[in-house]
Amino acid sequence: MGLGFRIEAKCSRTAARMGELVTPHGEVRTPAFMPVGTQGTVKSASQEELRDIGFDVILGNTYHLYLRPGHEVIAHAGGLHKFINWDRPILTDSGGYQVFSLERLRVIGDDGVMFKSYVEGSEHLFTPERVMEIQRFLGADIVMAFDECAPYPCDYEHAKTAMRRTHLWAERCKAARNASQALFGIVQGNVYRDLREESARAISGMDFDGVAIGGVSVGEGKDLMFGVVRWVAPLLPEDKPRYLMGVGTPEDILDAVECGIDMFDCVLPTRLGRNGSLYTTYGRINIKNNRFIEDFGPVDSECECWACRNYSAAYLRHLYKAEEILAARLATHHNLYFYQKLMDGIRRAIRLDELPDFRREFLAKYRKHKASVHDENSRIEPLNRDRSEKKDYGERNS
Ligand SMILES: [Zn+2]
Repeated sequence: MGLGFRIEAKCSRTAARMGELVTPHGEVRTPAFMPVGTQGTVKSASQEELRDIGFDVILGNTYHLYLRPGHEVIAHAGGLHKFINWDRPILTDSGGYQVFSLERLRVIGDDGVMFKSYVEGSEHLFTPERVMEIQRFLGADIVMAFDECAPYPCDYEHAKTAMRRTHLWAERCKAARNASQALFGIVQGNVYRDLREESARAISGMDFDGVAIGGVSVGEGKDLMFGVVRWVAPLLPEDKPRYLMGVGTPEDILDAVECGIDMFDCVLPTRLGRNGSLYTTYGRINIKNNRFIEDFGPVDSECECWACRNYSAAYLRHLYKAEEILAARLATHHNLYFYQKLMDGIRRAIRLDELPDFRREFLAKYRKHKASVHDENSRIEPLNRDRSEKKDYGERNS
């Protein structure tokens, strides 16, 4: 087992916990947010920037790295850490989400999934054993079991079949695991309570190093998603890290932390940043808006990030309008800084047993700004169905 997990503080009013994961490449403070480095890069941010912002762990996508440049190339480079020059912890997903979200590309059987490369059309087979082998080549500190991520909406029988298959594959991943990497199991069951509870018990009983809740944030909406979190979280082992995959907005993260979730990943801060949507203390704004034409102050007066310390909202708006790539860099940096600061605040609040107060104060400001685009959240989800987002192909949905 390549992982230790220590809970250092618990909230007395919610199920939130604060602690530390110990991996071969260092500690991860929890609750933790992991920026998504799909292709071995968090789009437009350098590893040095991610280190400066203070992220302990980043995520890489097995599916993408396997197809390009190939797991053998990365192994020859000395592993993913060396290849991308990141000496802190890395988590790789199993590729399950990607192969199952590409409807036309796959043939599913109990053995695994056959799919065609989106890069050049060649055929590939992912089995639990193959996925564990690829993740061993990549060499991440934390690897994920291969799961079947059912779509939403999904009928009960389909969801049940996918869940049962996920459990069979979880056992096979355990048998094929590399002892030096931590292995997380994934709970499935779609939006059906009995399936989710059955899956939570089954995966919890398999003695993984951590447990993830998968198959959420696939278009089911916030209410159903939090229904799933509230059914599953209480059934998970108390002494192991819990990871809610593909979530979410700042509000989602606060809610999920209060349900006892320790780890998150989401493309929202980076993807929205590239599209000109910036998280601020007073809500999310669209920097392309005319009201920023002569706003020569920072995007967020309470933000101390490199972008806000050096550049104005008006300049950032101009960069977007002129389609300059520095726009994406500055916005990505700012949004990631915002998320990291939120996680710092959450961890500190749990340590001081002030989480509900922190949440109330954060949201009072965050929901205050009349001009923010906060209310537009529902219109941009699910992001993976937005055709204008084609360049983000295969990235995990919000
Ligand atoms: Zn900033």
